[in-house]
Amino acid sequence: MTNPATPLPSSLISRYHGWRATSFQENKAWYARLAEGGQHPRTMIISCCDSRVHATTIFGADTGDFFIHRNIANLVPPYAPNEDYHGTSAAVEYAVTALGVTNLIVMGHSLCGGIQGCHDMCSGKAPELEKKTSFVGRWMDILRPTYEKVAKEGGTDEEQVKRLEHEGILTSIENLMSFPFVSERVNAEELALHAVILDISDGTLEQFDQSSNSFNPI
Ligand SMILES: [Zn+2]
Repeated sequence: MTNPATPLPSSLISRYHGWRATSFQENKAWYARLAEGGQHPRTMIISCCDSRVHATTIFGADTGDFFIHRNIANLVPPYAPNEDYHGTSAAVEYAVTALGVTNLIVMGHSLCGGIQGCHDMCSGKAPELEKKTSFVGRWMDILRPTYEKVAKEGGTDEEQVKRLEHEGILTSIENLMSFPFVSERVNAEELALHAVILDISDGTLEQFDQSSNSFNPI
């Protein structure tokens, strides 16, 4: 059987040529330095796959600035060393132990389809997500205990989803602390964890504040 990969759509090819001729050309020295000296990002960002969440744009980042991992609903699973495929845990391990990042940001966002799906699944409105074969459903199981907590507090579905978007980020921060190589560095003040959430409608970025135990606009 031949491999089914095909050439890129022409629209992407022309966009690529545009980048190569302008931005790449203008920053050639910087790209050469990154290639020769390796990458030394100080910050890792874990954000959602959602196309509306663009961490590099929000922080005006350059190539080489951020080590970015994206997954459905910007989740970090608990530390679970076994022989399964752990893409997110591998990215965290590499960023923390090999690159030595000093900041790790979990960035959530409003109107997250993954969080909405988690709420639908856990509240019985999306039985298809309960199936063993649903990768999204089994991934969102990470937030099932957080959903239970949010649902107990009551409110409309909309209010619960909004709280789950925020609480899910804090669950990921807690799960990060279950990785020994993360908690050791956090306790030694070599690594700082940050929880932020982006409102994709109005561009507001809120960050979690320990003293008030709440997310506040930056
Ligand atoms: Zn999302």
